[in-house]
Amino acid sequence: MLNQEKNRIALISVTGDPAAQIGKEEAGGQNVYVLQVGLALAKLGWKVDMFARRNSPEQSAIVQHHPNCRTIRLTAGPEEFINRDRIFSYLPEFVKAFQKFQHREGIQYSLIHTNYWLSSWVGMELKKHQPVRLVHTYHSLGAVKYRSVRDLPDIASTRLATEKACLETVDRVVATSPQEEQHMRALVSRKGAIEVIPCGTDIERFGQISRQEARQALGIAEDAKTILYVGRFDRRKGIETLVRAVGQSSLRDRENLNLIIGGGYRPGQSDGIERDRIHGIVKELGLDDITSFPGRLGRSNLHLYYAAADVCVVPSHYEPFGLVAIEAMASRTPVVASNVGGLKFTVVREVTGLLAPAKSDRDFAEAIDRILANPEWGSELGTTGRLRVELAFSWDSVATRLAYVYNQLLSEPIPVSTPSPAVAA
Ligand code: UDP
Repeated sequence: MLNQEKNRIALISVTGDPAAQIGKEEAGGQNVYVLQVGLALAKLGWKVDMFARRNSPEQSAIVQHHPNCRTIRLTAGPEEFINRDRIFSYLPEFVKAFQKFQHREGIQYSLIHTNYWLSSWVGMELKKHQPVRLVHTYHSLGAVKYRSVRDLPDIASTRLATEKACLETVDRVVATSPQEEQHMRALVSRKGAIEVIPCGTDIERFGQISRQEARQALGIAEDAKTILYVGRFDRRKGIETLVRAVGQSSLRDRENLNLIIGGGYRPGQSDGIERDRIHGIVKELGLDDITSFPGRLGRSNLHLYYAAADVCVVPSHYEPFGLVAIEAMASRTPVVASNVGGLKFTVVREVTGLLAPAKSDRDFAEAIDRILANPEWGSELGTTGRLRVELAFSWDSVATRLAYVYNQLLSEPIPVSTPSPAVAA
């Protein structure tokens, strides 16, 4: 007898392992989202299984995060790190491993929430063999990303076709910002059902410590004008814009300037290469003395860096949502962000921070300088940012809204249908 409990859900995130260390090896917002949504749903009484691809033989096959929430790692392809652009051909193995897992455990999921286009392909394949409701979050849209990429990867056409099939056939697509919804409609398809539910942040982890205490803990001087970047080392994150902004004379002449660029990297890999490139620009501009690279920030120190900063800068070329901005806001730190995508939604101009055109060193320099020049205004922006996050972006509120959608879908009979053919692997 198959167990098809109503409050059971599978979150599939082939490439974004929720149990991974965040901040390196392509592990960023998607991993955080899946884990936090999973945990918050478990608190609401859901039985949550999160599935990712195993990328090292040392990784445990199952990680239990909470009595009702676990990560299950399935073997699909070699158990080693594989770049996202090369995973597609291993997806049929992932589908088989998922089906075997269901069989072994005597479970059949009636509800699957997939994350990133690769997982949507898995979801659509599974739907050919079992009655299931599918919900999908893109996290990044090829249709947006490829607009600014000169050499398209070989996988580009498959990704675009899968994203379109997904939007047109799954039961609900979750856009994390109204801007992402607009992009889906303008660039992917007019068909399909979209619900806007934002990402969240941990309001108990961030915002519990004062700037002074955080600075003491990190050894940052009280009078240091601290500018913080947090995130992966990837060209599209626009770290170069931030460094060049700090290099503008309006800013660099300020006393006690302190630039912190936080994020993990692996020497010789794409993030290590970008980190070296950024360090090269830091040296070229003579900013070595005021710049530090503390590496990956984690459980023990991320909240301290956010609290210690006078301003947190998110200079991305594009973000469908951008968790770092709301983490900084939850920590009462004003944000200067690119005027793009989800950042236009989370950061309220002149109220919780400032927005500047992406890639514009001069505008970023001006915005950062305005905040550093007026610390009282900076803390007002920070206080309002915290309020905005409490009202709109806690994981509990996000999970409650997702659960509402899930329950709606599960209350209707699930048709045993075959979606329009996804792209063959
Ligand atoms: N992050 C982290 N440690 C680091 C760098 C990043 O924990 O050293 C986390 C960061 O706090 C955020 C996530 O990685 O939760 C990045 O998410 P975001 O949406 O900003 O960007 P993405 O990586 O998804 O492009």
